Amino acid sequence: MNPFIFEPKIPRVVFGAGSLRSLTREIDAMQARRALVLSTPAQADQAERVAQILGDRTVGIFPKAVMHVPLELAREARSEADRLGADCMVAIGGGSTIGLGKAIALEGGLPILAIPTTYAGSEMTSIYGLTEAGIKKTGRDTRVLPHTVIYDPELTLSLPLNMTVSSGLNAIAHAAEGLYAHDGNPIMALMAEEGIRAIAAALDPLREDPSDITARSDALYGSWLCGTVLGAVSIGLHHKLCHTLGGAFNLPHSELHAVILPHALAYNSPGAPQALARIARALGVQDAPARLYELLQRYELPVSLAELGMPREGIDLAANLAVKSPYPNPQPLEEQRIRKLLERAYEGAAPN
Ligand code: NAD
Repeated sequence: MNPFIFEPKIPRVVFGAGSLRSLTREIDAMQARRALVLSTPAQADQAERVAQILGDRTVGIFPKAVMHVPLELAREARSEADRLGADCMVAIGGGSTIGLGKAIALEGGLPILAIPTTYAGSEMTSIYGLTEAGIKKTGRDTRVLPHTVIYDPELTLSLPLNMTVSSGLNAIAHAAEGLYAHDGNPIMALMAEEGIRAIAAALDPLREDPSDITARSDALYGSWLCGTVLGAVSIGLHHKLCHTLGGAFNLPHSELHAVILPHALAYNSPGAPQALARIARALGVQDAPARLYELLQRYELPVSLAELGMPREGIDLAANLAVKSPYPNPQPLEEQRIRKLLERAYEGAAPN
């Protein structure tokens, strides 16, 4: 056993089909009385439902969240929270909505109750992001970690199949990098392997029947585990590449993770054989990168960065940035090799 430090800082979790019904109890337990409900425009109806459940504990709805948290939007949401005298936020949605809640919490200190409806995992991390003039800055701050998370699989029934799979692969990416993180620990490794297993096993049943509540529950359970891992360990090459490309070209978040993951794992494989073996075991195969690449085809997701709309110049930019400020990664960061990785991902070639 290698030496490790284990210091969990994780939100209270209420999990289960129908658990949205415990919302009022959970807000009361936070000793909050004036909730501002956050969502994207597309999920305004779910925000409305939350507001109705909360009744007079709701002071307003702010249904304007968008991807990557633009600074101006964060400012607007903060002044709305101040104007309404909110004493907590209820963020219902994916990483974009929870990210907006975090941006408010970062300055105002309001506690967040998160109700995730994708598998992105932001609700379990103290990582925030803010985009100013096209540049996304991220950081970690314990003030943005939600106080409570309600995982209700019923709220994921409406997630389209392509987003279900790409968001599931986004979660798997957190766990995969957690398995070789320099600051990982045995508990996170157990959670990571189980998270990958739970999500991967849910995909075929969900393709058969997207309303299969057992498979929806398994996938959300897996995403909780994977998000917890992301919150506890440092990220490596995979997340750094996605961050650079996503921020520079405004590429769709989960699809980008899904395309890059097989290539990043193939790159890191020689430096992390045990982690790769555990990822493969969780996926029920011998070769994890090959399997993750196959999944893109199996579920008809984009396989190339070109399909996501990235211009070819992105290859040079990301390869440059990936080696500019070094960070721990199981395999040395070599610009030429990273450029090759990105070329394969750009063209949609198999990982090698
Ligand atoms: P998203 O939140 O942008 O959601 C994508 C779209 O799907 C939105 O229109 C949303 O309203 C819709 N949607 C969400 N759930 C739905 C449901 N159940 N049914 C129907 N439609 C639904 O996507 P995401 O991938 O969850 O989040 C991406 C963002 O989160 C990125 O900005 C990323 O950087 C951030 N993120 C942050 C962390 C972190 O730890 N800070 C972790 C992961 C992702």
